[in-house]
Amino acid sequence: MSSASGQQAILSVDRLTKHFDLSSGLIDRLRGHRPVAHAVNSVSFDIGPRRTLGLVGESGCGKTTVGKTIMRLYDPTSGQILFRGQDVAKLKGGGLKEFRRHAQMVFQDPESSLNRRKTVEQILAVPLIVHGLAQGKERTERIEQVLEQVGLEPRYKRRFPHEFSGGQRQRIGIARALISQPSLIIADEPVSALDVSTQAQIVNLLSDLQSDFDLSFLFITHDLSVVKHISQDVAVMYLGEIMETGPTRTVFDNPAHPYTQALLSAVPQIDRSAEPGEKRQRIILSGEVPSLVKLPSGCVFHTRCPQFIGKICEQEVPQPRDIGGGHIVRCHLYNDVGTPVELKPSAAKTKPTERN
Ligand code: SF4
Repeated sequence: MSSASGQQAILSVDRLTKHFDLSSGLIDRLRGHRPVAHAVNSVSFDIGPRRTLGLVGESGCGKTTVGKTIMRLYDPTSGQILFRGQDVAKLKGGGLKEFRRHAQMVFQDPESSLNRRKTVEQILAVPLIVHGLAQGKERTERIEQVLEQVGLEPRYKRRFPHEFSGGQRQRIGIARALISQPSLIIADEPVSALDVSTQAQIVNLLSDLQSDFDLSFLFITHDLSVVKHISQDVAVMYLGEIMETGPTRTVFDNPAHPYTQALLSAVPQIDRSAEPGEKRQRIILSGEVPSLVKLPSGCVFHTRCPQFIGKICEQEVPQPRDIGGGHIVRCHLYNDVGTPVELKPSAAKTKPTERN
């Protein structure tokens, strides 16, 4: 499958779905009460070589579950994950181990993701040992080399994680991901726990590493300004579904989905269309985010949508429409050929909050 760049995709995710059974045991099952959290629902995207896809949305929208399911930390409920054409969902044993050498994960909290009882050298040696990549002098050289590549001095290898700052610890986390020479890195909120100046350093480091090592990234974050800086492509998630996707610049300049418009309106400094000093009008979403156990019918965003257009939003699931240049939106405001629908005055909305 081809990615948005037109190149053969490294990672191709097709209708990926992950549900969690929340029933608390036998009694629930005997009563026929089987609550299910619909964390990820039919999510599809491709990532090409040396491309970064930013997966954005509010916390709890399912973006971390997408990353963990791709890494097979969770088994998918349905759908396909192709990594270089290989079906990840079917991998076992040696095949799964080999996949995890080529696809690595960087976590949000470097403090808890690094074993505090081990030195940096011991931490970085683990992937080399597990995958049988280097031993003896070569192992030491690889560790020193990767530390330099992430901007740390090789002599730091004898230190423990608590002897580093937050930004340095995240560099160690990146080094650990990098040392097995992957082609895909799933970075889950990698800068959220860092202060702003350190965030910029880590984002710049990841950009440099991408071009130096031909890496592809799935960059999971709630921070739109970071996505704008690092991602060529973006996908916006809400309640386990992708609402809008496309080239980052196109989506940020002309957000088509009411949810994306609301998210971007909260970040006026990245509004390219605005004059200097001018702010995009903030769109405040009313209502609570619905439960993943009981998703709204039709468009899952209809209970909060400021542009709700009536029954069609409540009853019909909007299909993906390409509105030009790979900019895809799922909203009934666009017709089958991706052009905006003409709304009759009578199609006026009842405010979603008033309907509840
Ligand atoms: Fe809003 Fe309807 Fe579009 Fe959903 S389909 S985003 S409710 S206008």
